[in-house]
Amino acid sequence: MKIPLVDLKAQYDEYKSEIDEAIRRVINNTAFILGPEVGTFEDDFASYCEAKFAIGISSGTDALHLALKALEVGPEDEIITTSFTFIATAEAVSMCGARPVFVDIDPQTYNIDVDQVESVITSRTKAIIPVHLYGQPADLDSIVAIARNHQLYVIEDAAQAHGARYKGKRVGAIADAACFSFYPGKNLGAFGDGGMIVTDSKEISGKVRILRDHGRLDKYEHLVVGFGNRLDALQAAILGAKLCHLDNWNLRRREIASRYTELLKGKGIVLPFVSEWAEPVWHQYVVRVKNRQLIQERLKQNGISTGIHYPIPLHLQPAYRSLGYSKGDFPKAEEAAENVLSLPIYPEMTEDHQNIVVDVLSNVLHGV
Ligand SMILES: *Cc1c(COP(=O)(O)O)cnc(C)c1O
Repeated sequence: MKIPLVDLKAQYDEYKSEIDEAIRRVINNTAFILGPEVGTFEDDFASYCEAKFAIGISSGTDALHLALKALEVGPEDEIITTSFTFIATAEAVSMCGARPVFVDIDPQTYNIDVDQVESVITSRTKAIIPVHLYGQPADLDSIVAIARNHQLYVIEDAAQAHGARYKGKRVGAIADAACFSFYPGKNLGAFGDGGMIVTDSKEISGKVRILRDHGRLDKYEHLVVGFGNRLDALQAAILGAKLCHLDNWNLRRREIASRYTELLKGKGIVLPFVSEWAEPVWHQYVVRVKNRQLIQERLKQNGISTGIHYPIPLHLQPAYRSLGYSKGDFPKAEEAAENVLSLPIYPEMTEDHQNIVVDVLSNVLHGV
């Protein structure tokens, strides 16, 4: 018996005919670059996010990069973000030549500690990037309020949060712009790389549309030096076929998450916390354990895959040594990095499989 962290094959098998039909349509029309598939999916994704504009980008990382570029972020600028995220959040800042400035996390939600943001704002600060980690929305109203006070932009990293709600509103157009990833394992995944920028700002939308397509105004007239960062039409067609199932998939994730919480209560491990204003989409179900390595090994021996998101906070990454941070700078992020464990959660996961995960984990916890 094997229980993976995600099961992309099971999802494809279930919707094979719809997805194959979308792929065939693109090939038959040979409209591989932008065109109607990308346009339609952009419109559908904008409505899904309850936002005015959506612009298809080649990946989540490129979406973050271009959103920052549209705000004219450059080498003089500092961008505030959390230390406890996937490295792409900070890489997008570095790609602009700007400096990522890290902040510790709220240990309950794993999201940026809003109370620490103000203390790192300088005259160079240009924007804040909150990350909706594991599909749990960050406290956007408080972050946007700080930003407005200091005339900063806010770009949401929504790569793990397709469909999540903050105070009833979909993440995506609550701040200045939001960036999504369609990396295959995300809640809405492509069959390769893909991303999206969602915004209510006509100005940002216009700028990223030009930037993603070689700065083009017309076929051979280029307004600015841009990038080859378009969402692929095949991926757009596949994503369009899958989008109508996203709410159901997220609902299944929610059911699995509440069942984990029910079954793992009182077993001496820290379970996920949900803020009262959050409707999360459970990209990951993350617990905190002592003896993580041993627990992970025992689960693996029983065929159960787990993940660690993330074992090294960004301020301690070799790649960011030049920023000058050291161990102890962000103790909450460092502690989380040492004891978080992601359990298998995906819409196709059966109750039987979940029972096995819970039983094996319970036995291990009992023994250690
Ligand atoms: C996946 C992810 C990204 C990057 O997305 P790609 O599509 O893989 O480039 C950025 N930020 C976070 C938080 C992510 O999880």
